[in-house]
Amino acid sequence: MADSELSSALREGLIRAVGPERLLTGAAQREAYAWDNSGRRFLPWAVALPESREQVAGVLRVCHEAGVPVVPRGAGTGCVGGGLAVQGGVILSTQRLNRIVAIEPGDRLAVVEPGVVNGVLRERLAAHGLFWPPDPSSARSCTIGGNLAMCSAGPNAVRYGVTRHWVLGLEVLLADGSPMRVGGYTTKGVVGYDLTQLLIGSEGTLAVLVEAILKLAPLPEARRTLRATFRDMESAARAVAGVMGRGEPPSALEFLDPASLELLRGNGGGVGHPEGQALLLVEVEGDAVEVDRKACALRERLLAFDPLEAVVAGDEAESKRIWSARYALSPTLTRIAPRRINEDVVVPVTRLAELVAGLQRIARATEVPIVSFGHAGNGNIHVNLLTDPADPARQVRAAQALEQVFDLVLQLNGTLSGEHGVGIMKRDFIPRELDPRSLVLQQAIKGIFDPRGILNPGKIFPMS
Ligand SMILES: Cc1cc2nc3c(=O)[nH]c(=O)nc-3n(C[C@H](O)[C@H](O)[C@H](O)COP(=O)(O)OP(=O)(O)OC[C@H]3O[C@@H](n4cnc5c(N)ncnc54)[C@H](O)[C@@H]3O)c2cc1C
Repeated sequence: MADSELSSALREGLIRAVGPERLLTGAAQREAYAWDNSGRRFLPWAVALPESREQVAGVLRVCHEAGVPVVPRGAGTGCVGGGLAVQGGVILSTQRLNRIVAIEPGDRLAVVEPGVVNGVLRERLAAHGLFWPPDPSSARSCTIGGNLAMCSAGPNAVRYGVTRHWVLGLEVLLADGSPMRVGGYTTKGVVGYDLTQLLIGSEGTLAVLVEAILKLAPLPEARRTLRATFRDMESAARAVAGVMGRGEPPSALEFLDPASLELLRGNGGGVGHPEGQALLLVEVEGDAVEVDRKACALRERLLAFDPLEAVVAGDEAESKRIWSARYALSPTLTRIAPRRINEDVVVPVTRLAELVAGLQRIARATEVPIVSFGHAGNGNIHVNLLTDPADPARQVRAAQALEQVFDLVLQLNGTLSGEHGVGIMKRDFIPRELDPRSLVLQQAIKGIFDPRGILNPGKIFPMS
């Protein structure tokens, strides 16, 4: 087989592990697992679709013995190529391990398998008046396993933090298929090193997650959405630091730059004052009585930064309209730009004004359009560099612009990724951010977990 190195011994071993109906080897079937949201393509040799942890362990044992790469994968919505078989081998999908094992309101926890879809869990928990806070925009399709492996997050991270703050314990299978439990069922626990936190965000390179004990929060009774438009980005960025600088944080604080507003105005509007050059979208939550007071107080705080307008949505329908402008951005960009480099850098909130000014400078100097928006309350901005594979000169300038963006972020005490992770897309840049000793130690940790280097090889660390 030209595009697969699946030997007959490996194929037979995998069939023994999962059964023939759960092993995909046809080219068309494998093609569906050759992609993710990074836009890169790597065809796996085979795809295993286990339905139990015993079957997952079986796949790992076979691949470990044969020294064949195994790539854990959820729904394949990742943005950095984490779920791609970049060195060939077997995709190990955990999508069919999708049971919600237990919901324990008294302990405020849920026990779930990794293939449970984030949005499905949200619906099930709502019946108990609870929720699991991590809210990536892909919630309707991405899996809890992917969320944990990437330490994903969304708008409400400004109030609730990210995935790692909402996991109590894990059951994982190590590279040779042996099981390990870390963490537990309690919200306090300081016995030994915190391997739960090490595994969260490890991008499928250290172990395969087969069960998670998730910490839950009470579902807020009511929410209110505010929209504030500003005459320039600097005042909006100062307003963000002002809102975050005192009092209770909002449950979302999103930012749209002038290029985003221009796109949305051409796309049906919903972005407020026609002269606005920057927009903040803010959400507060609480019980039905206090939520209006919170919304008014927040509007007062915003007014101190001289917006062109600051309005509280009158009802649920208006709130949805305001949010839909924000969520329309990503698909709009995908439609208009032949290619976009979508980064998710983070800076301390007080450095946001410098970041947005710097991004404009880089866009002018390199003549590469940059559209920025995102989770300003965390200083986490999605920076989109619009380029075109049919224009080699622009591709070169886009690569230069990207380097400049990363240098700027690090100068501002920021980090190269707030939620998308490293995968293959940022692996060459991480030595710029990580202390060299930390990088060596991290590679040594990978070696201890996975001495044969079969678990998701080619990810996170630079290829030397
Ligand atoms: C439209 C869209 C919007 C998005 N919005 C956001 C957002 O707001 N915030 C955000 O953080 N991300 C966002 N993402 C990125 C993506 O949805 C998240 O990274 C998500 O958590 C990936 O989940 P998945 O199930 O698709 O995982 P996959 O893409 O299948 O895999 C991602 C990584 O997790 C590993 N993995 C998966 N399952 C396991 C397992 N059981 N054990 C070990 N490792 C495993 C894989 O090896 C891979 O490295 C978005 C993506 C899209 C397409």
